[in-house]
Amino acid sequence: MQNSLWQTVLGEIELTVSRASFMTWFKNTELVEQQGGQVVIAVPNIFTKQQLEVKFTQQIKDTLERNKVSVNHIEFIIQSSTKKRAAEAIHPAVVATEIVASAPTATKTKGNSLNPKYVFETFIVGSSNDLAYAACQAIVGSPGTKYNPLFLYGGVGLGKTHLMQAVGNEIVRQNPQADVLYTSTQAFVDEFLECMKSRSKQWDSSRYRNVDVLIIDDMQFIAGKQATQEEFFHTFNSLHQANKQIIISSDKPPKSIPTLEDRLRSRFEWGMAIDLQAPDFETRCAILQTKAGQSGFTLDRDTVEYLATNIQTNIRELEGALNQLLAFCEMRGTRPDLQTASGLLGNVRASRPHHLTVRQVIDKTAKHFQVEPVDIVSPKRDKHIVVPRQIAMYLLRSELHMSFPKIASELGRKDHTTAIHSVEKIEKAIKLDFIIRQQVTDIREKLYV
Ligand code: ADP
Ligand code: MG
Repeated sequence: MQNSLWQTVLGEIELTVSRASFMTWFKNTELVEQQGGQVVIAVPNIFTKQQLEVKFTQQIKDTLERNKVSVNHIEFIIQSSTKKRAAEAIHPAVVATEIVASAPTATKTKGNSLNPKYVFETFIVGSSNDLAYAACQAIVGSPGTKYNPLFLYGGVGLGKTHLMQAVGNEIVRQNPQADVLYTSTQAFVDEFLECMKSRSKQWDSSRYRNVDVLIIDDMQFIAGKQATQEEFFHTFNSLHQANKQIIISSDKPPKSIPTLEDRLRSRFEWGMAIDLQAPDFETRCAILQTKAGQSGFTLDRDTVEYLATNIQTNIRELEGALNQLLAFCEMRGTRPDLQTASGLLGNVRASRPHHLTVRQVIDKTAKHFQVEPVDIVSPKRDKHIVVPRQIAMYLLRSELHMSFPKIASELGRKDHTTAIHSVEKIEKAIKLDFIIRQQVTDIREKLYV
């Protein structure tokens, strides 16, 4: 009865909102209670709840009233569809009690749920993140068996959160029964410490130990928190022993997180640790074009290259600058072009005195390897200089987007094929050799501080 009413309401709403909105926000909802003006609608997650509350409450109310239901108050509750279906299968009358019983789950999901916007489909793969992407894809196929834990690390705005949540979203999509818990380390720490202090609030360790997949973001925040580390150690062991998948992110590799207990550090190194690097020029261009396209804009090559040349460190900044440009053009009804982009970005660049030069790349690379900059540009063929020189060439290409002849001439080489060869060699080495990969990441980071 309630269901057919709700189907009618949905049918009417479907006619008035976009297909995407309907599929995203309405499709998996259900009317679970309707009595004396009180209406309760079950939704699958916190995002739907928020979206419906903020944007669609009035419309839902109007549509219900058109269908002769009086409405004083609408409440949205979070309820996973699988539980609901299981309950209905047992006995339709159980539904109402099931909802009451699952109310704590609703609060549990709060703040921990997966963000539906972080999916593999919108993640752009380039040489800076392809290993991490591949590992994440592999986990979806067989969680808990391949890389456990998977430890993703890298600087801010490089896609760690996006990628790890994509794993969660995809696992849930393929298997709606899977219990995937995403949490920030900060939330874990805060909650744990609060429970330790409080007399009334009890720490519920089973909440983290009884899941199929635990995704825990920004592990660097556990540094120095001894009691929490101890608790997390047991959580980790319990999940790992049960072959449950653990995915961790951090801004640094396990060995570089200060004041991390050794036993926890060694656990983190059990599985696979992969870094996400700053995106190279090609990837930056691809990201800009794709994201502009998703917002219904096309960018010409000049504008893309301008943005990709001027914003090099991370994807969040790249997205921010693009959104700023698109919003500006949307308001004025103009097309995004080079002139507008450079006008807007002028401000960003002014607050960012650091503009990378060839000199800096050579100096920082030399310093990292404790060799002299003059040696890097000299004809010397000693082994301890050849690799730094090749890395410097690689960085000139990936960070400054220089042509091969220009790279060759800056490094005192006559033949530009040397530059091509060196850049290719490092590109390959980055994929195969973790030491080189780490060296390049370290130098790149130093370039932008
Ligand atoms: P991190 O967790 O490493 O700080 P995020 O995952 O929050 O970074 O990414 C920052 C922003 O950039 C997010 O909006 C994310 O969707 C976007 N982003 C990061 N990497 C990519 C990528 N490879 N393709 C598309 N978007 C990306
Ligand atoms: Mg993050």
